[in-house]
Formats: sequence, structure tokens, C-alpha cells
Amino acid sequence: MKNIDTLLHARWVIPVDEKQSCLEHHSIAIHEDKILDILPTPTAKQEYQAHTTRDMSQHALIPGLINSHTHAAMNLFRGLADDLGLMDWLENHIWPAEAKHVNESFVQIGTQLAIAEMIRSGTTCFNDMYFYPDITAKVATEIGMRASVGLILIDFPTVWANNSVEYIDKGLSVFDHYKGSKLIKTAFAPHAPYTVSDEPLKQVRTLCDELELNIHMHIHETAFEVEQAEKNTGVRPLQRLADLGLVGPTLQAVHMTQLLDDEIELIASAGSHVIHCPESNMKLASGICQVSRLAAAGINVALGTDSSSSNNDLDMFGEMRSAAMLAKISTMDATALPAEQVLRMATINGARALGIDDITGSLEVGKSADIVAVNFDTIETLPVYNPVSHLVYCCSRENVSDVWIAGKQRLSDRVLNTIDSTQLKQDCLRITDEIKNYS
Ligand SMILES: [Zn+2]
Repeated sequence: MKNIDTLLHARWVIPVDEKQSCLEHHSIAIHEDKILDILPTPTAKQEYQAHTTRDMSQHALIPGLINSHTHAAMNLFRGLADDLGLMDWLENHIWPAEAKHVNESFVQIGTQLAIAEMIRSGTTCFNDMYFYPDITAKVATEIGMRASVGLILIDFPTVWANNSVEYIDKGLSVFDHYKGSKLIKTAFAPHAPYTVSDEPLKQVRTLCDELELNIHMHIHETAFEVEQAEKNTGVRPLQRLADLGLVGPTLQAVHMTQLLDDEIELIASAGSHVIHCPESNMKLASGICQVSRLAAAGINVALGTDSSSSNNDLDMFGEMRSAAMLAKISTMDATALPAEQVLRMATINGARALGIDDITGSLEVGKSADIVAVNFDTIETLPVYNPVSHLVYCCSRENVSDVWIAGKQRLSDRVLNTIDSTQLKQDCLRITDEIKNYS
């Protein structure tokens, strides 16, 4: 018998591997922060003696979900302005509210609220873009959440920085601080082609090459964005970014609802990643990303919720279902984007886009133990013929019972282990009262 930290016996283990396996009556052995073994339960009981053992006879164990695009702290603006198009929403509501209310404390509480929601929704890693990335990284580290924290860059002055030199300098100090961190990775996050000019983008290109950083950016979110750019610069935004050398394997292009055939070829040959945010795109009436076509062209497509202010939640289960449904109705093809493919978008494809697929994104021996238990023993989820179908089409985030990140249990029977929920709710109310009293 080998002594290990944790042994999870499950009804189903869905590793999201190349074989699309669905293992029945299997166990996962966890030691320190990694998956040590995945094997049939009777054998596991003979081979391993664990400090903690869990019998999850009605649960599916899946890789922790990866939210590949969000703005965590914006959880405090959830429901502040709805039923508006992107530019009206941004220019007349979100940017003014950010100028008035965003500060270190706002980002701290907003990020705690977002991470609490994400862990309770089965998300173990998020790709962020917001002001005060130093605070976002600090909060994620304290809670024990995995994140790729975006070093934001935008042409106009904000509460975080006044000009591109300051944005880049402050971003680089966050990069330096978290170099070598187990849970936190950083990426440059220029907001969008229409908010960042050529000079800072060239600097980003150089720095990303030197420091091996990824680039996380909203691109071709709406037809308006593309039309305006063509009018002002004579070229479409993606072409401008390609001319600046930004379209390569480190690019995470968020939204991409407007793509011509040759642009799909460009992204595919460059090896760039596309992050699909179907609910935000639908709510803001931004457009539809042609996920099936992109995937058929060999492009890695991952899934994100975008912020809680344009969605209005950070629920990757809801996002998976929306992605599947939107792909089907927009192509009038019910076979488009089947459940297995959507689950890959929410797990391993996200890890690939973030450059961490050697660490997480699937349940495999040697990878980090980022594991989510989903309870199928509820009235709403019985019977179970196909657990993968259930994950996408039937169950909801309330079915998430337990979550481990890097081998540490962060959710136990839906209770958060590293967040004081009572205190968090009080802090959240205090800040939202200030916002209500101001506006
Ligand atoms: Zn966004």
C-alpha cells in the first residue's frame, strides 16, 4: 500500500483525453498537488492508503473548467446596465462607472466575489483582463485559484495608469512579482484594436517575444468595430494586428464574430487561439462567432463568460450550453458543436489558449489535480445515460459539489474553504451601496 494525500472514488471519471474516454467506477489518486494515478476503484483500494478518502458513488469527476475570458472585478457591476449595444454600454455606462468607483478595494472585493462564484460553478482557472492586475493576482493567490492575469493596456488614462509607458511599466512589475508562481501566470492584455494605438502594440510585441508572454485581446467583437477601423485606417483590425506582428501562436483573440474566409485562414496558419463568449455576444447583440468553421479549419477555440456585467454570470455550465445551442441554430445544423467538443472548449482548449496545457485542462497522470465533482444524484439530473451530454445539456452549476485546485480542496459540499462568504457578502453590499448612492 502506498501512502498518499487524497483518494477520490467516483461513479464516472471524464478525463477529456484524446480518446474521449468516460471511465466508470474509477478512482483518482492525488499526492501533493498532482494526479498520481487514475485506475479502477477496486485496484485503487488495494494499492493506496490515503489521508483523505471520498466516496462519490453518484458523481462525475471532470477537469476544472477554464474560463478563458473574463473581467473578474466587474462582478460588482453585475446588472448595472443591461439591454444595450456594446458601444452605448461601454461609453455611457461602464467606462464612467469605472472612472468613479474602481480602486484597489473595489478590485479586491469584486475579484473575491468573482472567484467565489467561479469555484462554486466548477471553474478552477480564469483568464482575466482588468485594472489593478496586481490585486487580482494577489486575491487569486490568497484563495488558491489558478489564473492568467492580464496586464491591461489602453490608450486613455484610467485609475490604474495614465499613459502607455505607465501601463507597461506597472504591468511588467506584476509580471516580475509572479514569475515562477505555481498558480499565477501573466499575459499582456491590450484592450482592443480600437482602444490601443500602434506604438504601444509594437512594444507589446517586443516584450512578449522577450518574456514569452501571451497576448489577450478583444478583436472583431462587432461589425461596427470593423467598419469604423476600415473607415479610419483603411484596413480591418485583424489585418492591422497582423501587420504589427501580433497574430501568432501566443494570441488569444476574444470574440471574433466578424471573420472573412481569408481571415480564418490567417488565424489558422498563425496558430492563434479564439476565445468564444456566446452569452456576452448574444446579450450585447454583437454577432456570432463561427465556431464550427473555425474548429474545422484547425483553430483552437476556447470558451469564456466575459464579465458579469455583460452576461450576467460567470457560469461555464451555462456558457457550454449556450455555445452548443447557438452553434446549432446559427448553422441550422443540429449536429454542430456536439457535447464532447463543447466540454473540450471549456477545459483542454482553454488550457492550450492560455499556454498551460502541460499543467491542467485534462485529468491525466502528472498534471495538476484541478478536479471538479459533479453530483448527478438529483431529481433534475436523473436518469444518466451519457454523463458528457448531462454536463452540457442537463445539469447546472448547482450540481458542482466539490472542487480541488492543485490538489487542495477549495469547495466541500458547496461550501467555500478559503473564502469567508459572510464577510464577502457584507463587503459587497458596502461597495454596491456606495455605487447606488453616487449614481
Ligand atoms: Zn471582455
